[in-house]
Amino acid sequence: MAASNARRRRFLKQALAGGAALGGALAARPAAARPTRHRPKNAVGLLYDATLCIGCKACVNACKVANDLPAEFSTPDHLWDTPLDTSATTYNVIKVYRNGTMARKDREINGYAFMKVSCNHCADPSCVSACPVGAMHKDPETGIVAYNPDRCIGCRYCVAACPFGIPKYQFDSPTGQIGKCQLCRQRMKDGHYAACAEVCPTGATLFGRTEDLLVEARRRMALPPGTPTTFPRGRLGGPDESYPGRTGHYLQHIYGEKEYGGLQMLRLSAVDFYKEGLPKLGDRSSAATSETLQHTLYNHMAMPVGVLGVMLYAARRNVPRDHDEEPPAHDDTHPATDRQLPDDQEAKDHD
Ligand code: SF4
Ligand code: SF4
Ligand code: SF4
Repeated sequence: MAASNARRRRFLKQALAGGAALGGALAARPAAARPTRHRPKNAVGLLYDATLCIGCKACVNACKVANDLPAEFSTPDHLWDTPLDTSATTYNVIKVYRNGTMARKDREINGYAFMKVSCNHCADPSCVSACPVGAMHKDPETGIVAYNPDRCIGCRYCVAACPFGIPKYQFDSPTGQIGKCQLCRQRMKDGHYAACAEVCPTGATLFGRTEDLLVEARRRMALPPGTPTTFPRGRLGGPDESYPGRTGHYLQHIYGEKEYGGLQMLRLSAVDFYKEGLPKLGDRSSAATSETLQHTLYNHMAMPVGVLGVMLYAARRNVPRDHDEEPPAHDDTHPATDRQLPDDQEAKDHD
């Protein structure tokens, strides 16, 4: 027994020294930082122009119909679908910014404004990065961030990872799934596109290639407020459904052009985006930051080796030090004296 203890301690000592040396050597070679990924060349998305939005919520209803989602009631009479936020069964809502008397639309003081909330189909989505089983997936062609319920294990890492609070879990179902906008990808094979854009009467929600939508957003922003112009409706590059109108008092900021490495949902507004509830984000995606950190820690197994070293150190500290040397040769002539009996057993034997 004592011999095997000594052998085990020698093994721990050698493994600890080897692990520490290996971990130190590997940690000294940092992994290359993972850059933020950009939108695919032919990425598709939406341009939401809050100054054109009339708050009719036709897009909310169209989204429910297109995705076969039930109504959600927030009034006692249960007459209308009145979701207050996105949920596992509501992928798109129009929220309202309010201030003071709310006398004028698209004014920060004593005004109000609308804001669309749905998945942004981020260029470098943290929901995809966080998903351990690939249930969240970014299409390399369209850039649409899709969800595969057959792969999902319900861990909800995507829920925690999204800075916009978009993926929502069905807590009321024993086999819960994640609910979020998938840009109506299921409708595209029939020549349709995002139902919210298809139905929008003012073109406030417009579907198209993200690059083209950016050009359109910059065109509007460059015009002085009140300039007569035409606004396209439905799909940019599709049948001409444009109508004459006047430009709004746009902030010189396209939300989603750069935020988080770029989004495929772009927004224009006359009211501060952050006051309308959108998060203030830098140009770098958190997926790039977390994966760089992860790859640095796991570079050449440095992290596991380091953890092994710490565990071995702890194990060594917990092994008694009073048998460091090999025990004297076993004396077979007095077998009974070799055996250590527990105190109470010894006492019992004496009784
Ligand atoms: S359908 Fe268009 S105008 Fe109506 S609430 Fe939606 S985005 Fe606004
Ligand atoms: S908004 Fe959230 S759910 Fe949508 S792609 Fe970005 S990280 Fe994923
Ligand atoms: S693209 Fe489709 S799923 Fe997404 S918000 Fe619009 S209607 Fe809803």
